[in-house]
Amino acid sequence: MLIKCPHCGTRPVEEFTFLGDARPRRPASNDPASMEQWFDYVYLRDNPRGRMDEYAHHAGGCRSWLVVSRSTETHEVFATVTARDYAASRRKGRAS
Ligand SMILES: [Zn+2]
Repeated sequence: MLIKCPHCGTRPVEEFTFLGDARPRRPASNDPASMEQWFDYVYLRDNPRGRMDEYAHHAGGCRSWLVVSRSTETHEVFATVTARDYAASRRKGRAS
């Protein structure tokens, strides 16, 4: 599997460390009334079949945190963006 790092270009997957699903959103507050939301955020993850966004650390390269959008079935990589750009695009989506 090859991943196109925005900084280093196309690199082998062995250079990356994966953290997991990038889609869960951190709750807005640590209000005790939202403990169920915190539990979901910290412990519960989907195991989707198909397209998934995952955090990846380019440990063997530029050491940047990225979000890799890929298929869990075929391992096809659809897009790779920096974690910062991913978060910014989600904030835009939340605001509109
Ligand atoms: Zn890189």
